[in-house]
Amino acid sequence: MPAELTSAEIPFRVGQGFDVHPFSDDPERVLVLGGVRFPDATGLVGHSDADVIAHACTDAILGAAGLGDIGQLFPDTSADFAGADSIELLEEATRRVNGAGWVVGNVDCTVILDRPKLAPVRQQMHDRLSAAVGAPVSVKGKRTEGVAGLGGGIQCHAVALLVRAPSSPARSLAAPENDTTEGFPS
Ligand SMILES: [Zn+2]
Repeated sequence: MPAELTSAEIPFRVGQGFDVHPFSDDPERVLVLGGVRFPDATGLVGHSDADVIAHACTDAILGAAGLGDIGQLFPDTSADFAGADSIELLEEATRRVNGAGWVVGNVDCTVILDRPKLAPVRQQMHDRLSAAVGAPVSVKGKRTEGVAGLGGGIQCHAVALLVRAPSSPARSLAAPENDTTEGFPS
């Protein structure tokens, strides 16, 4: 154990994400949460599919890796992301995070909403989100019973842990000039 550990040597990073979208008046908007569609629920306003859980997870992992935020990566002024499947955005963010030398350890989310109930599809949301980031993603629903004045939309908070990717044996044996794995713990 070195006497002094610099932040660059710490093999973990933590990130936090938050998102909120208001309910839509448009009956055509389908509610999507954690990559799961709720055909009978009121949809949310958004440029993409307005999946607040996927968006909060995306911001959490990007923030942990120091790669900015979802708005920088996928601008809502771009027609490319109109109606986008936010699970695909989360997958792309994961690729960027992995490319920067990190793997996702886990993500934990709290969704603040009074409706609909999440419990019946919690496993489905877990499965879709976990597949996107390659690590466990837990989703907890928190009802406010109306006291927080959140009847107008759905919020999500997410916390992500990133773990420095282990350097490959080849890299350990002969690190190239520009090897970014230097300083990785063995
Ligand atoms: Zn969003």
